[in-house]
Amino acid sequence: MSKVLFQHIYKQYAGEQRVAVKDFHLEIEDGEFLVLVGPSGCGKSTLLRMLAGLEDISEGNIIIGDRIVNYISSKDRNIAMVFQNYALYPHMTVYENIAFSLRLSKLPKAEIHERVNRAAKILDIESQLHKLPKQMSGGQRQRVALGRAIVREPEVFLLDEPLSNLDAKLRIQMREEIGKLYRRLRTTTVYVTHDQVEAMTMGTRIVAMKDGVIQQVAKPEEIYSR
Ligand code: ADP
Ligand code: ADP
Repeated sequence: MSKVLFQHIYKQYAGEQRVAVKDFHLEIEDGEFLVLVGPSGCGKSTLLRMLAGLEDISEGNIIIGDRIVNYISSKDRNIAMVFQNYALYPHMTVYENIAFSLRLSKLPKAEIHERVNRAAKILDIESQLHKLPKQMSGGQRQRVALGRAIVREPEVFLLDEPLSNLDAKLRIQMREEIGKLYRRLRTTTVYVTHDQVEAMTMGTRIVAMKDGVIQQVAKPEEIYSR
């Protein structure tokens, strides 16, 4: 769990006239669930990718905990990301999918085993560990994707529209499950959505963006009371 500071961040993609992110300045507290909302193209994914180290910053600093991470590679940032298309490995079992990143980091087997089982228990997929992703429902697969993220015990969680491919009923259910997971782990989270309801129900704070610029930063109750 760590605080995150975006210090006057600018992003201009190579060969583009438009600035994708302009003077984005924000401190995210330890253990916050920050929601980024805004229309398509406003710069949400760009911000997440810069935070994850998957995209260079044009100007400014990103600080995680007490480290400036601008020049720290993605794999050396303790950040886990969940996308809308869960991107599970189809030929690996659920167990292997969840264990994969830990195997890469060369953790001892016993530790991997313990962590995978703990994550599976939290997500209630203990009985599914031997299955292949295609043998599971959409909601269960989304749980596996979350399992892959939490098993790393990251400092920061990034979720990029994780529910947008799910049907309405499952979306509501997964929204609640992600909320529950957050209340249990209290990991600093940045959650991107263009769904107002998700933003209002899930976030401890909401940042509304437009054209790469912050329009508003508010707590859900402040938005309700307007
Ligand atoms: P959002 O996630 O809010 O939909 P993005 O961060 O994807 O917004 O995009 C912000 C802006 O940056 C858009 O104008 C988009 O076209 C542009 N953009 C995103 N990715 C790239 C890229 N790889 N190369 C050039 N421009 C990009
Ligand atoms: P090793 O990698 O030496 O074979 P592991 O303890 O990682 O030892 O597990 C062996 C294999 O058994 C794994 O590759 C995994 O596919 C499977 N496995 C381990 N634990 C479980 C479990 N709880 N449920 C389902 N499959 C499991």
